Amino acid sequence: MDNNEIKIVFTDLDGTLLDHSTYSYSEAENALMSLRQKGIHLVLCSSKSRDEIKIYRDKLTNNEPFISENGGAIYIPEKYGLKCEFDKTDSGFLVIEIGSEYKILKIAFEKIKRETGINVKSIADFTVDEIVKLTGLNREEACLAQKKEYSLPFIIDGNEEDVKNIKDAIQLSGFNYTEGARFAYLMGGNDKGKAVNILIDIYRKNYPETKILTVGLGDSLNDLPMLEAVDKKFLVKKELGNYEERIKVDDLNYADGIGPIGWNKAILGLFGK
Ligand SMILES: [Mg+2]
Repeated sequence: MDNNEIKIVFTDLDGTLLDHSTYSYSEAENALMSLRQKGIHLVLCSSKSRDEIKIYRDKLTNNEPFISENGGAIYIPEKYGLKCEFDKTDSGFLVIEIGSEYKILKIAFEKIKRETGINVKSIADFTVDEIVKLTGLNREEACLAQKKEYSLPFIIDGNEEDVKNIKDAIQLSGFNYTEGARFAYLMGGNDKGKAVNILIDIYRKNYPETKILTVGLGDSLNDLPMLEAVDKKFLVKKELGNYEERIKVDDLNYADGIGPIGWNKAILGLFGK
């Protein structure tokens, strides 16, 4: 492997680096250590909100850029030294906003709910206790999970036809639909792939002479655009031991393990110990 090359690993959190139920990444510690030792960049790219992701950046002592809310925004630490165009600065980060504002999504959501008559509930309609029960998050993280800025997570209480009708209604209104492991999402023009491409482009412009290798790991439908955007693509198994069958990309590698177990094997297999 070329040692002068910049290597960037883009990873989903829930169900990929983090165990679906416990949100632990302990099974991936060896691979995380290997990335640290080799100076390989690890960019968290999640449906989680900025403040939820910050918790994991702190736990992982990760000082890299990150991508929140399914590509809703990119956060680059000002001290990181990447030069780029940005929309605003916020607590030491350059912020590139890609998604639509939450209040616009909320209006669209309420309209779709009324017009379809389907029983959909946005994350804001749940109490904190209900979110804790639904997700297994602790109370602090459950509160932060409700504070979305660029995406609107929701749950459809209905059959397959209801899901299809909601999807169609969202697309007809000019918005995007995607799914993670627990929630469906109403979003503006963002997806994880758009954000990953923008960030890769920023690295390229800042290091025009250096080769860049990009890696992506995910488990759910919302990871598909991210996997399409990177050189090496890994799908980990979902909590029941199956792979998300709607993810079809050329050269997709099937990591042998559920969530962080598959993550660990994929990264160690690619970069070594
Ligand atoms: Mg996931």
